[in-house]
Amino acid sequence: MKILFAASEVYPLIKTGGLADVAGALPFALAGLGHDVRIMLPAYKQVLEAIGNHGAVFPLGDPFGTGAMRLIESAMPGSDMKLLLLDCPQLYDRPGGPYQREDGAEWPDNDTRFAAFSHAAASLADTGNPAGWQPDIIHANDWQSGLIPAYLEFQGNHAVKSVFTIHNLQYQGRFSRDVLDRIRLPQSAFSPEGLEFYGDVCYLKSGIFYADHITTVSRTYANEIQTPEFGYGMEGILQARSERLSGIVNGIDTAIWSPQNDPFITRNYTSRSLGRKAVNKAALQAELGLPELAGAPLFGVVSRLVEQKGIDLVLEVIPDIIAMGAQVAVLGTGDARWEKAVRQLAEQNPAMSATIAYFEDLSHRIIAASDMFLMPSRFEPCGLTQLYALSYGTAPIVRRTGGLADTVLDIAQDKNGTGFVFDAPSAAALRGAVRRAVAHYKDAPAWLKLQRNAMKQDFSWQPPAREYIKLYTSLLK
Ligand code: ADP
Repeated sequence: MKILFAASEVYPLIKTGGLADVAGALPFALAGLGHDVRIMLPAYKQVLEAIGNHGAVFPLGDPFGTGAMRLIESAMPGSDMKLLLLDCPQLYDRPGGPYQREDGAEWPDNDTRFAAFSHAAASLADTGNPAGWQPDIIHANDWQSGLIPAYLEFQGNHAVKSVFTIHNLQYQGRFSRDVLDRIRLPQSAFSPEGLEFYGDVCYLKSGIFYADHITTVSRTYANEIQTPEFGYGMEGILQARSERLSGIVNGIDTAIWSPQNDPFITRNYTSRSLGRKAVNKAALQAELGLPELAGAPLFGVVSRLVEQKGIDLVLEVIPDIIAMGAQVAVLGTGDARWEKAVRQLAEQNPAMSATIAYFEDLSHRIIAASDMFLMPSRFEPCGLTQLYALSYGTAPIVRRTGGLADTVLDIAQDKNGTGFVFDAPSAAALRGAVRRAVAHYKDAPAWLKLQRNAMKQDFSWQPPAREYIKLYTSLLK
């Protein structure tokens, strides 16, 4: 099977969140099952710099009047996984992030940037496309590639099937109606039975409406988004398409995230040598300037600092955590308001450290060194960091929602439990779970059992990759 995996970020080339981790791992797992897979990504400045030499170049003309576009055929770093980069300097060759300027404001031409990306991906469905390679399946991800199924529809191309994965429903790619004049889609698409959403053009809705199948990254989130509480207005159309909607829980890239061979951590360990985890804790305490107390439970947070992740709840509970004799290490970036609040609380509390930055290596060390990992998300499509925590024997404390509900089993409910789960999105509920965790931690044999339960889970990409192949196969029948 020939599969095009289109994403707006791919680890390690460019990353703002979990989508990059998925796009940098799932295609490899699919290829490992014997399929011809290519990843497609916009040729952002950072990506071109990281890739250096590249292979063939295919001209795509100037369909959007934004200068000539071309497809650069390259490979993912250190592998033979083919990478197709949509090159259009006017759209992608600029400093700043993939979606935002350096000051955090959205790029004003995101409507065109991601329409062009989707248009180019869909153009590969034509038999005579310049790249000379036609996928059977185009797998689109989030709003940035949400127009792919619409382009396929209006090209009249029904042989190539599309799967649209929602990694986060909150980001919808909504633009004013006049964008339709610029992105080569007919006015007839502007309809409730199309990509219209409350008077706007919505790229996410396009993916949901036109794709042959929709997935989300956990089963619970697939159900939750069909309700007003989690649907962000999309619940109606998701209900209407529920026969074509399913959840597949993400895996993790065990080549990058495994305590046994993680190059970023101080001391490697396995579930049989968990004593060595203490070496990581001592080293992290020293690195972050925390008191070097081996017995103080260490709580880790690695997160975007936004309300979705419940950072406000974390901030409310940190003083109680510290009063319990524990420590907290926070790594994150996000809304200025939360960055400031995290920084201020750390300044007042020697038992708390705050790193307001995006540091891949430190994220590994915090997850490896911590005893507990805090993730009280209000909603969580899948969540990867709790999976990393589990596989590093770091007990997740999570809210029962989305992928968190699907991947963390409360130790109070099951002797094979792997963490601490609470229900209400409140500081009181989080505090209760924290208390239970600290009490459990004091019982060393029970804690070791919990860590081993967590580390025993198989979070590799093979099982989900097999589910995706089964899904693609069913669409091609
Ligand atoms: P989301 O995609 O909603 O942000 P996920 O848990 O699915 O949440 O994925 C987040 C990814 O981003 C993880 O790989 C996590 O380690 C990483 N991450 C988040 N914030 C930081 C940070 N400040 N520094 C390093 N890595 C981070």
